Amino acid sequence: MTCKNCGKEFEGGTFCPHCGASQVSANNTTRADDAPSTGYAVLGFFFPLIGLILYLVWKAERPLRAKSCGKGALIGFIVGIIFSVISNLLIVPMIMQMSGMYGMLL
Ligand SMILES: [Zn+2]
Repeated sequence: MTCKNCGKEFEGGTFCPHCGASQVSANNTTRADDAPSTGYAVLGFFFPLIGLILYLVWKAERPLRAKSCGKGALIGFIVGIIFSVISNLLIVPMIMQMSGMYGMLL
């Protein structure tokens, strides 16, 4: 059989003689309810802070679901930064211009 961690071949057993990785843990630690989740990715996208917290909570026991949360949170976070930059570059000067025009009218 081949090691799930390093990929080297060995005669068998619960631990790899090359790297010491457990060969049964991959099946035992994976929970039935651990799967990539689009719903949690969307949740993380809209609430990056909640996504980050869920990622940290699930990272060990539910790595696949945690990854979905983390990915969503990261994208949401980046999009949030882009939007704030755009609003600073476009909307704020626009409002200032509008308020300046409004001030001239008065
Ligand atoms: Zn190995």
